[in-house]
Amino acid sequence: MSNFDRCPNCGKYDFQDNHKCGKQWEAYLLDYGFDNQDDPSEDTHTRYKAFGNKPTCAAEDLAEEQFSNWDYPEVIEIWLREDSKSEWIKVTITVETVPQFSGTIIERKGAKMK
Ligand SMILES: [Zn+2]
Repeated sequence: MSNFDRCPNCGKYDFQDNHKCGKQWEAYLLDYGFDNQDDPSEDTHTRYKAFGNKPTCAAEDLAEEQFSNWDYPEVIEIWLREDSKSEWIKVTITVETVPQFSGTIIERKGAKMK
């Protein structure tokens, strides 16, 4: 039996029977009114947990989670590191709105007799 649900740890929807969380990253978002945006070693910022096997994937998921209400900046910058002994990696996220195509019937002509 498979149970498709939200992972209580990483927050991803997956089949929980064989779900494995991605690698965990310590992260924080820039552009949130930080006093010193370019120094990730400052301990005064809100830290987030991000999950993904690559820093870019983890950053994308974190950005999506934090900015899913359409109120997001055009560019999001996120610092991530694996743990306190790892280097900080800065990732830029660009946000694109996806075009939606929807069809509407606007005219009909010439019914054929059967
Ligand atoms: Zn998980």
